[in-house]
Amino acid sequence: MLLKDYKLTLKMPECNPSSQIINGIANLGQNIEEVLPYLNSVIKNCFYNHKSKILSFKKDGHMVTIYPDMIAVTKFNSKEEMIKFLDWLKNFINEIYGNRENIKPNYKTREIPKPIELLKLLPGENCGDCGYASCLAFAVKLSQGEATIEDCPLIFKAEFKEKKEKLSEVFLEA
Ligand code: SF4
Repeated sequence: MLLKDYKLTLKMPECNPSSQIINGIANLGQNIEEVLPYLNSVIKNCFYNHKSKILSFKKDGHMVTIYPDMIAVTKFNSKEEMIKFLDWLKNFINEIYGNRENIKPNYKTREIPKPIELLKLLPGENCGDCGYASCLAFAVKLSQGEATIEDCPLIFKAEFKEKKEKLSEVFLEA
């Protein structure tokens, strides 16, 4: 077993502190970076930077970002739901680590596009309905894995169908 335990800290979304949706940080108290290239091999559509040792992916509507000693997760309705997800993730990480001799590690980088590139795929209305002051501010949060495309209600309008499809291709579920 690689990942033994974690200590959870809940975080309210910066854009709307009174929201019922919660984010979380699991502090690992250990370094698990050696498993990241194996996760990069196994998790479909994940983003990975081997130099910075950061891996992120979207799963069941949650953004998951794994750092060497910390895991950030977003958009849960309750602490219990988050713990259930983190326990699943912990088991998954340990399963991949336990099976690493049969997995070819992948060190290739696939990064989330830069905010300026994501901005081109947003509606550009700067309406604030996502909870951020502008589309650029939202693009920054998207690129940091702290927001998901579902947070922009306008992108679901028919007139932005093409942009939504391109964004969805970037942020495919794992
Ligand atoms: S809701 Fe969408 S269109 Fe409005 S500011 Fe946010 S990202 Fe831009």
